[in-house]
Amino acid sequence: MDMNRRQFFRVSGAGLVGSSLVALGFSPTAALAETRNFKLARTTETRSTCPYCSVSCGLVMYTLGDKAKNVRSTIVHIEGDPDHPVNRGTLCPKGAGVMDMIQSPNRVKHPQVREAGSSEWKTISWDEALTRVARHMKADRDANLVKTVEKDGKAITVNRWNTAAFLVSSASSNESGYLSVKVARGLGMVALDTQARI
Ligand code: SF4
Repeated sequence: MDMNRRQFFRVSGAGLVGSSLVALGFSPTAALAETRNFKLARTTETRSTCPYCSVSCGLVMYTLGDKAKNVRSTIVHIEGDPDHPVNRGTLCPKGAGVMDMIQSPNRVKHPQVREAGSSEWKTISWDEALTRVARHMKADRDANLVKTVEKDGKAITVNRWNTAAFLVSSASSNESGYLSVKVARGLGMVALDTQARI
């Protein structure tokens, strides 16, 4: 191969640098592979449940963000959870598009209330929402709890609260489902249901 003096020095220099790096333990293959990192390599995995239907497929959400103060992590990818017994990694088209719902500007992220007589929805804090729910529940239970019913001429204690119902998420674990039922029954609620029946 013909080459001039300048080309000779350039080729020799590159070869020398390459062989020196190999001698020092730097593999060009590894260095090149480094630029082809798996796109989820620096993400955090969080397991969750698809919110759309009562099948409740398992999701793995991949979040990017270094968790530093004032840094908001962002979900960059979602896929079916291969270890979940319900869906074993699969998702239907609706569940596969759940990123669109999460990132939608129309998504409601805070509790809202529409006061009696108002046509506007007002955003409130979770503390206020829970306090209001508890207050409404107590007022309704105080007004409508059926303590006894008559049967065979005798008053039988029933403590039924028929004017409120409880809908439990199908995504609840056995443990949270058990506790939800205990709380609702303890208050006297008769009407309990779960999203899994929908
Ligand atoms: S992925 Fe589809 S089938 Fe599974 S819970 Fe979501 S909407 Fe339902």
